[in-house]
Amino acid sequence: HRQRIVAGNWKMHGSRSFVSEYVPALLGKLDTLDADTRVVLIPPSIYIGEVRAQVQNRATQQPRITWGAQNVSAEAEGAFTGEIAAEMARDQGCDYCIVGHSERRHLFAETDEVVAAKVEQIVAHGLTAIVCVGETLSQRQAGQAEQVVARQVEACLAKVPGNSWDKIVLAYEPVWAIGTGKTASAGDAQAIHASIRKVLENMQAPAQTIPLLYGGSVKPDNAEELFAQPDIDGGLVGGASLDAESFSAICRAC
Ligand code: 13P
Repeated sequence: HRQRIVAGNWKMHGSRSFVSEYVPALLGKLDTLDADTRVVLIPPSIYIGEVRAQVQNRATQQPRITWGAQNVSAEAEGAFTGEIAAEMARDQGCDYCIVGHSERRHLFAETDEVVAAKVEQIVAHGLTAIVCVGETLSQRQAGQAEQVVARQVEACLAKVPGNSWDKIVLAYEPVWAIGTGKTASAGDAQAIHASIRKVLENMQAPAQTIPLLYGGSVKPDNAEELFAQPDIDGGLVGGASLDAESFSAICRAC
């Protein structure tokens, strides 16, 4: 049995007024959610406190509906202007933190080594890391998708203590499918997810219990087929998570 999860990555979108309208509207649409599914709202860090307050107003839906951070520092604390520590995310009640998103890798030069250090911080503070991996278009066209993803999984999880695997979620996000409207076919996504489980097995990780999410242009009309695949346990949703109607439909499909 694996936890099913739908996480909404707002990226750098939203405002205080958006939070105050969107969150209550979304929660109102999630009353019929499958009891096994967790929904994670991941706003820009500056709005985490506001999202938290809105969710806590509807205590009956906790802990199925929770919140997280998009990124934290690889350092525990100190003189790192502009950074946020894992402990601070925990202090704001975050259960999850995304790490290694392709936008962080490509626009902010995060390497697998940095991602591994962040994962270490995240799990050390009792948060669950949503570790993103995925190949670029040219890597896929060269037939290297599986190898690229395998290498990322191994490198990014290199520092996970043996007793912390229950704090790991992986998100397979093919770079060419992010924000492009192009989704991996359910079959192609499933194939990579199955290959990730093999990599985890080889690492002596509990491969059958680690949730594997798919991300990249997940929409209400493709969510059901993706989530029906045997090794896809949910989704990491960008654009469609900003619309309460669309995101609630995706959550219900899980
Ligand atoms: P889109 O759903 O907008 O393609 O973004 C996916 C993503 O990057 C989620 O982290």
